Amino acid sequence: MNRYHSEGNLANILIVDDEPNNLRLLSDLLKKQGYKVRAVLSGEMALSAAKSHPPDLILLDIMMPDMDGYQVCHHLKNDSETCQIPVIFVSAKDQGFDKVKAFAVGGVDYITKPFQIEEVFARLECHIKLNDLQMKLEEQNYQLQAEICQRNAAEKALQEQNELLKQEIERRQTIEIALQKANQDLARSNADLEEFAGIASHDLRSPLATINGYAQILQLRGKEQLDDKCNDFVDQILKLCNRTNLLIEELLSYARLNQAQEPFQLLKSDRLLQQALENLTTEIYQNKAEVTYDPLPPIIGTESQFVQLFQNLIGNAIKYHGEESPRIHLRAVHQDNCYLFSIQDNGIGIDEKYSEYIFQIFKRLHSHDYPGTGIGLATCRKIVERHGGSIWIKSQVGQGSTFYFTVPTEPRSVEQQMIAAIAHAN
Ligand code: ADP
Repeated sequence: MNRYHSEGNLANILIVDDEPNNLRLLSDLLKKQGYKVRAVLSGEMALSAAKSHPPDLILLDIMMPDMDGYQVCHHLKNDSETCQIPVIFVSAKDQGFDKVKAFAVGGVDYITKPFQIEEVFARLECHIKLNDLQMKLEEQNYQLQAEICQRNAAEKALQEQNELLKQEIERRQTIEIALQKANQDLARSNADLEEFAGIASHDLRSPLATINGYAQILQLRGKEQLDDKCNDFVDQILKLCNRTNLLIEELLSYARLNQAQEPFQLLKSDRLLQQALENLTTEIYQNKAEVTYDPLPPIIGTESQFVQLFQNLIGNAIKYHGEESPRIHLRAVHQDNCYLFSIQDNGIGIDEKYSEYIFQIFKRLHSHDYPGTGIGLATCRKIVERHGGSIWIKSQVGQGSTFYFTVPTEPRSVEQQMIAAIAHAN
């Protein structure tokens, strides 16, 4: 019968005794019992044999010349390569065996000669198993430690992420607060603007109408009585009245954009465009403008505002024409979650550095050469943003301009915009 330890190898025993007869006897008995046995005659030999091929167990004689069993055991236990090997001392009854010393130097057990061989086998088996179990335990312990280290590292990483997340939440909260404040400011300035527009419409329009009326009477009745210079003055007054009236109208309509009076609905873009072109009939005719367009998609929004958007952009494209007659082309493409509209003209163009500036209210680049109020593009931006899109220009002086604006295709985002618009209006 072969003796195996837990890893499936033949159990390997090193016997150390300076008495060749003893060695042979024990060695034969163990071999018969199925162990793999190596036998050495001195402490020195035992140390080098244990180091070169560590056995599963050592049977160590106490009384040996040069180096006794205690010393051998002491060396074995102080060497990291051999310290795990269980050592069982073998002593003769009359040799004065010191059990306490044997355990103190690291022995796990002892056998006294003459011995009963069954007892020797039983002790060998017991300690080989014990040692196996201990090794396994140590291995498990080691794995457990590694796992704990891994978990600690994962926990640390999690804590770090948590910290980052906290910082991100705080950052967003700060932004949200700033946004809320900006919204409140905006709502206040919108309310101020609406109030101002209300005052402008009631308190400015009626005196303006009176001035306009008197100037018209003067123009009719005073033609013969007044000299040419005075007639020119009257013409100027009438022109200024018209311009101021236009300014009031545009300001009023700009201020009222947020007061959504019409509901959002599905709109045919080409119909909206047709309406805008009808409103621009005079300008198109007078400037011999040519307006072409590709098929345009249906969109969701407020009808009158989209008519106004098309009208403002095409009206500008006609107004700011160069030497050639205005040629304007509209197209729309589907891009991500929106339609991207473009209105391209062959007009005078603008310097790129004014791309943002011209969308601000009352900001104009060509105020001397072209009539206008500087409200048109601000109105366009407000309309587009109210519908959840954005608007911008690509242009070069003398090379024409292309205005782009987006309209979300997803009804959800439009709904969200509606809610935002309602909240904003309140
Ligand atoms: P307005 O036309 O009444 O001056 P807008 O707000 O419509 O006001 O336009 C602001 C300015 O942007 C204009 O004064 C003009 O300088 C410039 N602009 C607008 N549209 C065009 C265009 N198609 N080509 C060149 N410049 C333009």
